[in-house]
Amino acid sequence: EAERVLATAREPGATADGHPVPVLANVTTPADAGRAVAFGAQGCGLLRTEVLFGHLDDAPSVEAQAVAFAGIAEAFAGRPVTVRTWDVGGDKPLSFLPAPDEANPFLGERGLRLMRRAPEVLRDQLTAICLVARDHPVHVMFPMVSTAEEVAWALERLDEATSAIGGRPAGMRVGVMIEVPAAALAVRHVAQGLDFVSIGTNDLAQYTMAAERGNTAVSALADARQPVVLDLVARVCAEVPEGTHVAVCGALAGDPAAAVVLAGLGVEELSVVPTRVALVKARLRDVTLAGAQDLARRALACGSAAEVSELFDPVQWRTV
Ligand code: PEP
Ligand code: MG
Repeated sequence: EAERVLATAREPGATADGHPVPVLANVTTPADAGRAVAFGAQGCGLLRTEVLFGHLDDAPSVEAQAVAFAGIAEAFAGRPVTVRTWDVGGDKPLSFLPAPDEANPFLGERGLRLMRRAPEVLRDQLTAICLVARDHPVHVMFPMVSTAEEVAWALERLDEATSAIGGRPAGMRVGVMIEVPAAALAVRHVAQGLDFVSIGTNDLAQYTMAAERGNTAVSALADARQPVVLDLVARVCAEVPEGTHVAVCGALAGDPAAAVVLAGLGVEELSVVPTRVALVKARLRDVTLAGAQDLARRALACGSAAEVSELFDPVQWRTV
């Protein structure tokens, strides 16, 4: 089994019958990126920039960010790298983007919402991403989006950045995270004109279940295996505008059986912690697309996260 996992790690992610499901990695540093490639990652589906620069007291310059992004893109050697713009607030502090003192920080000014206070910090980051995207397959993703109006605001900031450097780099894809139930329900509007959406199942579970992700007393509720969370994933896949790709970069994608369910629901790309890449690829090779779709239907019919977990036992669904 270990040998088989290692062998599939070098192959692109796909089901047994050849339906492609690229498996990328979530990374934060150039060292991470090198490791991810060694583990078989087909790119980076989520670069958490607030972690990469989390140790700084002042916002990094355009140059400093461009050097860091280029280093990570070089480690991925021509594979795509999706850079997420500053995602601060809630559980993620950043000294140069202080969030206001709020009674409910998880429901307050976090992620893209907070950038309205510091649009120049966002613009500098977008400039750095675009400069690197001229020479590397680097893409941009905005976090914590709830409405189409917020997406329009973000795209205006992107236009400001690109017009100052002579236009948007050819081939640079633009997307948003779907991690708020409102955005999942309105994906038809929210994702209009975007190249991709990436579902953040960590926050999507938290906000769907009204249970804080880091609070162990309610972690059984804030579980992305809750059938209602899977239901929202299914809905995003069904209602996303034609031509907009759907990825998942939340921790759920790194659970090999859940990865099979996600592929069955119609998710086109997964991004997982580097150490899970090989295992996820191996499990995808255990099923045909029809087998994955059947497992997804059974998962959606479950009445609880515990029932879904039972389905995740490979004995239940391994078809190859
Ligand atoms: C998520 O919310 O699922 C996600 C991938 O983003 P983060 O964990 O960084 O909030
Ligand atoms: Mg999130």
